[in-house]
Amino acid sequence: MSPKASSCPICGQPSHPETRPFCGKACRDRDLLQWLGDGYRVPGAPASDEMKKSGDDGVDSTPA
Ligand SMILES: [Zn+2]
Repeated sequence: MSPKASSCPICGQPSHPETRPFCGKACRDRDLLQWLGDGYRVPGAPASDEMKKSGDDGVDSTPA
């Protein structure tokens, strides 16, 4: 239930102690920019589909 060896959520490589859960600063910064750009408000949490409300690209909506 408590995975000790976590993987980098960005690239899947083993996380680095200094930058975990990411494998390195590159992925850490990448994730930071990513959730900043996407408007994420839950750091460290995976993207939750239940927070979808506006629609990403009209995938589940009727095509215009
Ligand atoms: Zn990585």
